[in-house]
Amino acid sequence: MARILIIEDERDLAELIAFHLRQEGYDSTISGDGRSGLAAAIAAPPDLVVLDLMLPLLLGTEVCRELRRAPQTAAVPVLMLTARGEESDRVVGFEIGADDYLTKPFSVRELVLRIQALLRRSAATVTSATRVLHIGNLAIDSERHLVTVAGEAVALTGTEYKLLSTLAERRGRLQSRDTLLQDVWGYNYVGDTRTVDTHITRLRTKLGTAGDLIQTVRGFGYKLEER
Ligand code: CA
Repeated sequence: MARILIIEDERDLAELIAFHLRQEGYDSTISGDGRSGLAAAIAAPPDLVVLDLMLPLLLGTEVCRELRRAPQTAAVPVLMLTARGEESDRVVGFEIGADDYLTKPFSVRELVLRIQALLRRSAATVTSATRVLHIGNLAIDSERHLVTVAGEAVALTGTEYKLLSTLAERRGRLQSRDTLLQDVWGYNYVGDTRTVDTHITRLRTKLGTAGDLIQTVRGFGYKLEER
């Protein structure tokens, strides 16, 4: 059952939305101000957030920005509600990362339809994103733990696979040797950062033409990125 967090200070409206969402089979919770709404979303990320723009303690725009910034809520769809319908509000809503936008007064039926559309869209994205990640001629199938380069399967050890998928998930972002050691080998692993270098060298060789996707950043670590 999809969980929807409603951050709205107009109690009657929030209750009305929650009532209709329950009738559609959604589980919904209400936060009456921006600060507690943000805290609730971060503590237990919902499947979707209905976010009012004008909120006490923390404005909807700020809540939305923070939701996008936090890794656990960065991909949660946000539907913004606002009392005004000016173009500038709409633009602001999308600029700070809202996925959709409704102007008050709106019909709750319309809101429910938009929510259903957003949930369908995010389910589709998650499925395709978790199944196969493509970077250049490299493809990583996270469900089957299968790596191919230009369509040819590459046999990797468990550690090599974890190292590659960690770099791929964080593509374009520099990863220090210490970070990789912790995240791939685990916090309690006893070894030094040369372990990372050794594995990267072997991984590059095995990846062949995709090997140079893994770039060395001298004195710091590695990143995976298309050149
Ligand atoms: Ca309000």
